[in-house]
Amino acid sequence: MNETRAMTVSAPQRGAPRILVVEDESALSLLLAYNLEAEGFLVERVERGDEAELRLEESVPDLVILDWMLPGVSGLEICRRLRARDATRTLPVIMLTARGEEGERVRGLSVGADDYVVKPFSVPELMARVRALLRRSRPERVATKLSAGDIELDRETRRVRRGGRDIHLGPTEFRLLEYLMEKPGRVFARSQLLDSVWGFSVEIDERTVDVHIGRLRKALAKATETDPIRTVRGAGYSFDETFGRA
Ligand code: CA
Repeated sequence: MNETRAMTVSAPQRGAPRILVVEDESALSLLLAYNLEAEGFLVERVERGDEAELRLEESVPDLVILDWMLPGVSGLEICRRLRARDATRTLPVIMLTARGEEGERVRGLSVGADDYVVKPFSVPELMARVRALLRRSRPERVATKLSAGDIELDRETRRVRRGGRDIHLGPTEFRLLEYLMEKPGRVFARSQLLDSVWGFSVEIDERTVDVHIGRLRKALAKATETDPIRTVRGAGYSFDETFGRA
């Protein structure tokens, strides 16, 4: 049943950083999506400002590329509202603007955009800025290796080791562990895990999460070893931030 979900997302790994592209020029939006996907990012595109707001309320990506002039709600206003909400206060935002609006740069930065790109721009330059901004603001999303205590996860080789032995995980368990290890101590609701680990707009029973957490635990901890995953009753799961520190 694992792979019935594969169609929700294209080539990039489902645990990859997620980027929302908000741009009403379809050709540009497609070009950006194509290039971002080639870099291994998961991309979602919307063309209207009000659509973007709905999407951002449902789920928070790792970075937003936001056009200034949009139908519905302007990019400027969206940025201002993102900064006013706890869930999106530090969400990395790159604003796009047409040449004539260049004088508005200061306004863009004053509402909290992290970076600002004037059209027409070179795609490689924008890609470099996306990577730089993610490295700065979400280092855990782009680090090659994550480690805690005696557990080490390598994103490039897709290997997990504990105390020197290889841990064999299925693809879903790997992504779950990767996601939890990115924010040790943070408790994720089952719905959040479904959204982030399984992908955009999937309809799966939340108990599926419990099944995969169970498999992950079994693979990670042999008889006397400490279980690094914490079940928080009524809330969800987290990677125990005290793991390996005792
Ligand atoms: Ca526009």
